[in-house]
Amino acid sequence: MAAKRDYYEVLGVSKNATEDEIKKAYRKLAKKYHPDANPNNKEEAEAKFKEVNEAYENLSDPQKRRMYDQFGANGPQGFGSQGGPFGQGGYYSYSSSGFDNFGDFGDLGDIFSSIFGGGFGGRNSSSKRNGPSKGADLNVRMEITFEQSYLGVEKEIVITRDEECNHCHGTGAKPGTSPIKCPTCHGTGQVTQVQNTILGQMQTTRTCSACHGTGEIINEPCENCHGKGTVRKQPKIKVKIPAGIDDNQTVVLRGEGEPGKKGGAKGDLYITVKVKKHSVFTRKGNNVLCEIPITITQATLGAELEIPMVDGSKEKYKIPEGTQTGSKFNIRNKGFKSISSNSVGDFIFTVTVQTPKRLSKEQRELLVKLAQTMNEQPPVKKRGLFG
Ligand SMILES: [Zn+2]
Ligand SMILES: [Zn+2]
Repeated sequence: MAAKRDYYEVLGVSKNATEDEIKKAYRKLAKKYHPDANPNNKEEAEAKFKEVNEAYENLSDPQKRRMYDQFGANGPQGFGSQGGPFGQGGYYSYSSSGFDNFGDFGDLGDIFSSIFGGGFGGRNSSSKRNGPSKGADLNVRMEITFEQSYLGVEKEIVITRDEECNHCHGTGAKPGTSPIKCPTCHGTGQVTQVQNTILGQMQTTRTCSACHGTGEIINEPCENCHGKGTVRKQPKIKVKIPAGIDDNQTVVLRGEGEPGKKGGAKGDLYITVKVKKHSVFTRKGNNVLCEIPITITQATLGAELEIPMVDGSKEKYKIPEGTQTGSKFNIRNKGFKSISSNSVGDFIFTVTVQTPKRLSKEQRELLVKLAQTMNEQPPVKKRGLFG
């Protein structure tokens, strides 16, 4: 696919632009490229207008913006479609649906008029209200352990959402009956009135009060859902968290949100991960950091250490003679898998030399001997100073 221009670049704002700056930039550009304002080069303006709208759609929504900053616009395809570790039919994705779900140009009029207070260029902001609309997205948080973030994990969560009523199959009408077209608005969901004013005739469109904009009237509501067509459910959802996910990153399950209206797509489920702190390991980028205590003899003579890895295995590592406390050693490719590329971080451990607090008589004698060979001042005897 063609490389998409960076959304920030499209709007001409910096990566850390405030919501206000983004909105301002968008307004300016949307005005400039609105097809109605560019009758001579409509096609080009339309393309630009669409691009600007897409950028704004993604950057004005904090959740989408975070996803975009995290994975970029093309990030999502990386996982699902390439059959990566979680590429099960592209079901899991790491982006919001906003990236590819743009709808036709007509929808953009809605976005446009909602910002400009409606009526711009004669567009009618409510003309689409009766059509299909996407269901709401759901947000949940999930806590996982450090090891789970390293290895990946599959967890079940319980969410609360509306699901299609299985008595009426979503129509809201009692089984055996069906909703009828609203006679007031003839199924459009809206009523149009023409008023004479001093400026001439003004046409106003309002949501039909008889059917509340649905365009349908249910005479005999379904008893199970009371005519709503949906019922509140608490389904269990399996979530695959990919290896390498970091604290505060988000996994998206498409189509697991609230149901859409009038045949619109289901919303998405956003799962933001909280990684618990580990007592031994910490993470920096994709590297695992860890402190390994060693004895003075290991530091002095060199030693083969067994270093505990995050996955529970052990790696042998030889530290050289004369290792100083605070020295860092690197075990390549034993860190976190990157979730956005094929790279793997390293395991970096820092040794700290432990000074022994208790020695046996024999050990002490040996150390005293050692000290003498090093021409040190004789060590102060225990209790020797004041005793
Ligand atoms: Zn029902
Ligand atoms: Zn109606």
